[in-house]
Amino acid sequence: MNDYQEEQLNGLNAVLTYLNAMSDDQRENLRATLADYLDFRRRTGRFLSQYFGHLCNMKCYRNRLSACCSKDGIITFFADIAINALISEERELSSLFRVLEAPSNGFKCVYLSESGCLWRLKPIVCEMFLCDAAMREVFLRKPACENAWHRLLEEKKSFTWPDRPVLFDTLEQAFMDLGCDSPLMYLHKSPGLLMVKKKAREKGNLNHER
Ligand code: SF4
Repeated sequence: MNDYQEEQLNGLNAVLTYLNAMSDDQRENLRATLADYLDFRRRTGRFLSQYFGHLCNMKCYRNRLSACCSKDGIITFFADIAINALISEERELSSLFRVLEAPSNGFKCVYLSESGCLWRLKPIVCEMFLCDAAMREVFLRKPACENAWHRLLEEKKSFTWPDRPVLFDTLEQAFMDLGCDSPLMYLHKSPGLLMVKKKAREKGNLNHER
């Protein structure tokens, strides 16, 4: 197991430990907070499959290049793990444990399997990644599509960028309030994101408890 796998495994274990300690009502309440985000992800998924599905499948997947999944240490936020755990089946979580505990050759993302990504809802960084070649090819032919993509990128920020109250911050906080801690809680630990929050507080866009 490499350092990345260990960090991911600890993150997943932390999420599941605290989720399992919650009552059914608490877990349901947390799931209810995901509705808008899941809707955003459904729309983004539809967009990507409509405009990029064929291209990515042909250029990357069939020839096994899978360039976007070839990094061995993709960034995952604590909230990515929590959201995925909240909507995953037991067997899907078991697959994640299996690859995190197995030796990794480091040539591709540990989560990439023969059938694709093992996450039920892949991390936001992965979902919003389009390589330059794919963007060029699609956006040149369909400029309206580029505008739609930029609107989705903007909308993503309303869940992840803490210059206002956002789901990714709220989720971290919910687990922190129960005593959970993880280095993947970037919205509470990354100096850059803490600076974004500080400025938002000064502007009155964020209250002082966050
Ligand atoms: S987490 Fe999934 S989508 Fe992201 S790089 Fe790994 S295999 Fe690809």
